[in-house]
Amino acid sequence: MPEPNSNASDNKPLPPGMVLGPDGKPCKICTAFRYWKPSNDKPKRVQDGKQPAPGIAATMAAMAAGTSAAPQPDPDTRPDNCPPDVEQLGRATWTFLHTTAAYYPEKPTPNQRANMLTLLRSLPVLYPCSHCASHLDTNLKENPPDVSGRVALSRWLCERHNDVNVRLGKVKFNCSIEKTDERWKDGPSDGSC
Ligand SMILES: Cc1cc2nc3c(=O)[nH]c(=O)nc-3n(C[C@H](O)[C@H](O)[C@H](O)COP(=O)(O)OP(=O)(O)OC[C@H]3O[C@@H](n4cnc5c(N)ncnc54)[C@H](O)[C@@H]3O)c2cc1C
Repeated sequence: MPEPNSNASDNKPLPPGMVLGPDGKPCKICTAFRYWKPSNDKPKRVQDGKQPAPGIAATMAAMAAGTSAAPQPDPDTRPDNCPPDVEQLGRATWTFLHTTAAYYPEKPTPNQRANMLTLLRSLPVLYPCSHCASHLDTNLKENPPDVSGRVALSRWLCERHNDVNVRLGKVKFNCSIEKTDERWKDGPSDGSC
């Protein structure tokens, strides 16, 4: 779900959903792919001798042959060789953070606590989506990380993720340790994972 759009400093209209970075320019890593993907109405240019992604190549071949037999790629699906968008980066980051919290010790050493604090406090400084980082910075100041043990850390992180979920209009996750462990460590009790 996009953040409210902003106006470019040069007053040129932005594509709907495109988010600006701190330099006032359209920011790919702050925006979902469906808002920055190239228009589908012209053939892809072949760059650096690389072939277009198979889905696009198949579609172009079918177009050239005058058939519609080739499957049409979902225009909102990011090809695997594209850089991450705000959603893929978010999913990958949450996966790393929740999994790290799930395997964090019950009784961490002072050194483990210090390293976890450093990891979490560096996110607002280094996270490439600038508006995400800015929201996180405010959130961490209001809700300092609890690195006292894996149960407390898993809950704290789940609540921070829920803060983002609520801001984006998504449903909240149940932050009990049973549910976070099921999602990020043990899998469901039906043994499907
Ligand atoms: C620090 C941070 C800040 C972000 N800020 C923004 C922002 O400002 N604007 C923006 O557009 N995007 C932001 N994102 C990205 C956003 O949170 C999502 O990752 C992205 O929209 C993709 O969402 P998704 O629905 O695929 O699932 P995600 O929200 O990425 O969640 C991945 C999986 O985690 C599980 N899950 C969901 N909620 C919880 C929870 N509370 N606790 C434990 N597990 C959970 C679910 O199984 C879900 O499928 C941010 C990401 C991060 C890491």
